[in-house]
Parts: sequence; C-alpha cells; structure tokens
Amino acid sequence: MQYKSKHSKQSIRYPQRFNIDGNRIYLPKVGRVKIVVHRAIEGTMKNCTVTKTKSGQYFASIQCEVEIPDVAPYGPEVGIEPPEPAPKVLRQSEAKLRKRQKKLARQEQGSHGWQRMKTRIAALHEHIANQRADFQHKLSTWMTRYYGLMAFENLHINGMVKNHRLAKSISDAGWAQFVQMCVYKGDWYGCEIEKVGRFFPASRQCGGCGSVNRVLKRSDCKWVCPDCGRVLHRDQNAAQNILHEALTGRSGRFSCGAQEYKGGADIRPQHAWGASVET
Ligand SMILES: [Zn+2]
Repeated sequence: MQYKSKHSKQSIRYPQRFNIDGNRIYLPKVGRVKIVVHRAIEGTMKNCTVTKTKSGQYFASIQCEVEIPDVAPYGPEVGIEPPEPAPKVLRQSEAKLRKRQKKLARQEQGSHGWQRMKTRIAALHEHIANQRADFQHKLSTWMTRYYGLMAFENLHINGMVKNHRLAKSISDAGWAQFVQMCVYKGDWYGCEIEKVGRFFPASRQCGGCGSVNRVLKRSDCKWVCPDCGRVLHRDQNAAQNILHEALTGRSGRFSCGAQEYKGGADIRPQHAWGASVET
C-alpha cells in the first residue's frame, strides 16, 4: 500500500470491489489480508476505509447501510442507570502520558530510543481517544434514549479553541464530538436536539427571575442573583437558561425548567435537558 508520508495517520478508501470472507478481507491490488473482526457486519456494505494509525496499527472500517429499529425510550419507569460519570481511567492515562512525554524529552532526538518512545506515546494518545469515545458513546446513547429533548448552546467551537485559556478544557471534553453523537443518535431514538444561539447570555442571566448580572466574571463559579438571591453553580444556572431558551423558542411561552414543560405531544414531557459550556 502506498501512503503519502510514513509517520502520520493515513487512510485509503475503497468504494467497491472489496470483500470480507470469514477472518480475511480482500482488497483490490493488495489481495487477501487476515483480520480480527471487532463487530459483525450488518446490512449492506457500502465502502471500506483502511487506516494506519500513528502507532502503526491498521484498521479497516466498513460503512454499512442498516435500518434503525424502533427502540423504546428508557424513561424514568424503566430505571436504567446512566453510565458512570467522569471516567477516572482517562485521568490515569493522562498521568501516564505526561510521564512518557518527559521521558521522550530526555532522549536524543532522532535516536532509536526516541523513535520508540514516540510510537509508544502515539499508541497512548490513541488509547485515550478510544476511552473518551467509548464513554461519550455510552453517555450519548443513554441521554438520547432517556430524554425527549436536549438543548445545546450553539458554540463557536473553533473560535473558542483559538482562545488559549479555554482551549485545553474544551478539546479535553471532546465536546464537539459528543454533540455530534447526540445529533445523529437523537435522530435514531426520537430525541430532539435544539441549539440555542451563541449570543444568548446564558451564564449572565438568572434562571429564576431573568435578571441579568453583567459583573459576573469567568472565574466566578457560583451564580448569585443580585435580585432574587438565588444561589447555585453557574453551569447549572446557564444550563437552565439554555433549556429555557430552547423550550421558549419552540413553544412560545416561558416555562421554568424541565419539570414544568408540558408542551409538544411528540416530546417526552418532563424529560428535557440543557447543557452549557463556558460562554
Ligand atoms: Zn434571580
């Protein structure tokens, strides 16, 4: 196989003439290659992408066309618990990553040991990305099946990542990836995804009385309303506002929080969710 450069992530796509037979894949010009099947093929195969990761592993992903079966929403009566929050394993991997990066810095650049350490670091990066995606998949599946509506702040992710101070926390959370998963799974499981405009002052407005606090700083993590005296975590206040805005936008009336929302017959009532990251 011919790829452009030797050390980065590379991929090649076969739109046709590939085939899978047991634990072997046939690729044009390459021939039959032994594979480990991670997931059984369902539906009609559309195309095949072969990827080589930075750590030197090869993956073939097959895009298939399948019919999404109707699944019942979880709802409160089913009582299926959401996945464990904030995967601790991620933090453990990140500590390991820092250790390896320090080791790399001590190696002579270009040396055999340096090259080896680079590959090990790349493998760990991939591992962390997999752990993160796994958690996001579990969470987004759970949420889109549990809630009838999810409201997201329509953030300008790219613009925000350019802001250095915020860059780390945002790319760490893999927020964009998570939102994307929710969007397509929402379509599968009948959960509506609403995006609230990014100029909406979600974190500066009181979710209780609607008064706006212009002196709120980024560093303030508590919301204290100057008018009604409401005190809660700023993200929680912002999330309530996002949800409010989404619900008001669609039903044309002010409804205070998820619990009071009764509109929209197609929406599982009392089960809506709003999210906010820093604005
Ligand atoms: Zn207030």
